[in-house]
Amino acid sequence: MQDPEKFLQQRLEMVESLKQYGIGNRRVLDAFLEVERHRFFEADTVAFAYSDCAYPIGFGQTISQPFTVAYMTTLLVERVSSGRVLEIGTGSGYQAAILDALGYEVFTLERIDGLKERACKVFQELGLDIDCRLGDGTLGWEDEAPFDAIMVTAAAPKVPGPLLRQLADNGCLVIPLGEYESQQMTVITKHGDNLEKEVFQHFVFVPLVGKEGWNDDVF
Ligand code: SAM
Repeated sequence: MQDPEKFLQQRLEMVESLKQYGIGNRRVLDAFLEVERHRFFEADTVAFAYSDCAYPIGFGQTISQPFTVAYMTTLLVERVSSGRVLEIGTGSGYQAAILDALGYEVFTLERIDGLKERACKVFQELGLDIDCRLGDGTLGWEDEAPFDAIMVTAAAPKVPGPLLRQLADNGCLVIPLGEYESQQMTVITKHGDNLEKEVFQHFVFVPLVGKEGWNDDVF
């Protein structure tokens, strides 16, 4: 039997540790308090839901560490405060739920059917209006473009061209860019025909696999 009070206490502790790691955006911290992270874990792994680490979600993929989710979300929130956001790499669905709690209209793409199905089911159970689709996120979501912000939650070897084209003016793309072993969090903001690039700290993500990402056969 799961105890909601116990999970709330764990969320409060998670938010406290995020603050200690330098996450200070009140909107982001409130979203972390609101979204029940354990709902994005399988029943036999909920004990790990509030641990400060990435955790396996099956199919060789992971739910990102809370700090990583908070870091990327802060970069996005500080640049684009509302509007339509496309996430590439639904995974467990947790990052999409955080963006939803922040009031964005959320679209999310996943390339692995089993993960997409599971995340859609959780969104439904929680009553979240998140548009979730199976597909190669490196090509974006043409029918729903433009987006005010795009967040890529897998490691990209280069910036996928379609994502830049599907970004609205003054929109930003948050993406971990680099080699297979390590990537630097990067924000690209579109100002008309000009692109502004900002580079932040290093992370290690699972690879973005697709036409404009890594080849499937490299791994
Ligand atoms: N955002 C997720 C969450 O909150 O649980 C964690 C994402 S996990 C680190 C990266 C995800 O990106 C994996 O689920 C993986 O299958 C997915 N992915 C990799 N390449 C992709 C692509 N081209 N299109 C869509 N999803 C992709």
